[in-house]
Amino acid sequence: MATAAEREATRVEPVPVPGCGVCLALDSDRKIAWDVGNLAAVAVQNAELRNHPHRQGTA
Ligand SMILES: [Zn+2]
Repeated sequence: MATAAEREATRVEPVPVPGCGVCLALDSDRKIAWDVGNLAAVAVQNAELRNHPHRQGTA
């Protein structure tokens, strides 16, 4: 049972940053969550991916 917020959180999926182990792990967990149909978990992984800080524009 997914809430409206969870559905919204799974609608647009953030892309993991290449080379970031945390992002890769979150992406892997998200795939598993999709496989088992756990939208709440997918939403959590998406939020974590979206909020995972990376150094940008420093070059
Ligand atoms: Zn990351």
